[in-house]
Amino acid sequence: MADHSRTRWSLALPVLIMLVVVVVYSVRLPQRELRPYTWTGFAMGTLVEITVYANRSAEGAVNKGFDRIGEIEQLVSTSISDSDIALLNSAPIGSYVQVHEDTAYLISSALEFARETRGSFDPTVGRLVDLWGIGTERASVPSGEAIRYALSGVGYQNLVLDEDKRQVMRNTDFRVDLGAIAKGYACDEVVGILQNAGIDAGIVDLGGNICVFGTKPTGQQWRVGIQDPAAPRGSYVGVISISSGAVATSGDYERYFERDSVIYHHILDPSTGYPASPGVRSVSVIAPTGIQADALSTGLFVLGVDELFEFVDRSEEIEVVVITSDNRVIVSSGIAEAFQVVKEGYTYEIR
Ligand code: AMP
Ligand code: MG
Repeated sequence: MADHSRTRWSLALPVLIMLVVVVVYSVRLPQRELRPYTWTGFAMGTLVEITVYANRSAEGAVNKGFDRIGEIEQLVSTSISDSDIALLNSAPIGSYVQVHEDTAYLISSALEFARETRGSFDPTVGRLVDLWGIGTERASVPSGEAIRYALSGVGYQNLVLDEDKRQVMRNTDFRVDLGAIAKGYACDEVVGILQNAGIDAGIVDLGGNICVFGTKPTGQQWRVGIQDPAAPRGSYVGVISISSGAVATSGDYERYFERDSVIYHHILDPSTGYPASPGVRSVSVIAPTGIQADALSTGLFVLGVDELFEFVDRSEEIEVVVITSDNRVIVSSGIAEAFQVVKEGYTYEIR
């Protein structure tokens, strides 16, 4: 008998210890889990939202991210009088201007995207952007003559970069505008800062330029909504699931004004000087980096459906969701499986 009870006790003790360990562990588990923390701010003329999954306050790293966005804005904003871009735009034509490393990188990348899209994306459209003033209080339909003048200097071939010396020159009378690429670059930079700070996973949203990194603690993919152009913000036609990379959307509903029942929006066709009217309402680009997604969403919008899908077919890195003016949602085949329809009223196609 005595032997039996000793056996029982010698078994019961480890079981009890294990039980205590399991209970303590499971009680502590929720605190150990990575939770999402979100910070919001306003920079580069847009809402910035940074969400990180962290088991401690990641505020320091997130603040560094916001500071970095501020730095980039200081360099490239056309409305900051001593930014690199403002100084370039006011320097005499034909003379080189010294620029910072970030500016040189952005210009070098912008020229590459301009070449790739055969000038549909063109960083030299600044004078046209100023003339139309879309998104500002002085937005108006310019005279044909004013458009012809603003258009006359446009052409990315006339923007010259000496990469080694980090010097830039305008060869003709245009103004540089990096509004279609800078936010995507800033998005990548913030992701780099967060990753270097040891943060496991997060999502950075700079006015619709969305970059994701790492794996969510739940193991689920990131879900990015594709805005319905005809509905209030936050109403989606579909949702894309991705594990890494970036999504950016260029749409005619983002910044526009209406005159005499005509909508004038902020994506300009560098070959005409007028808002692009390719039969497309929005182009979302899914790409490895934010800078690609941002620049190409603008450039592909201008190209229109057929030409932009030729581009996508040639590219190994780019997928798209295109919403047309006749209510079609066209999803490139490489992303079709990751696209979930959430709204009726559109016809959905895979191409
Ligand atoms: P996004 O919202 O990224 O499509 O960028 C649109 C902004 O880029 C506009 O507000 C202009 O500042 C500038 N932009 C407009 N049209 C073009 C274009 N065809 N190529 C490059 N930048 C453009
Ligand atoms: Mg863009």
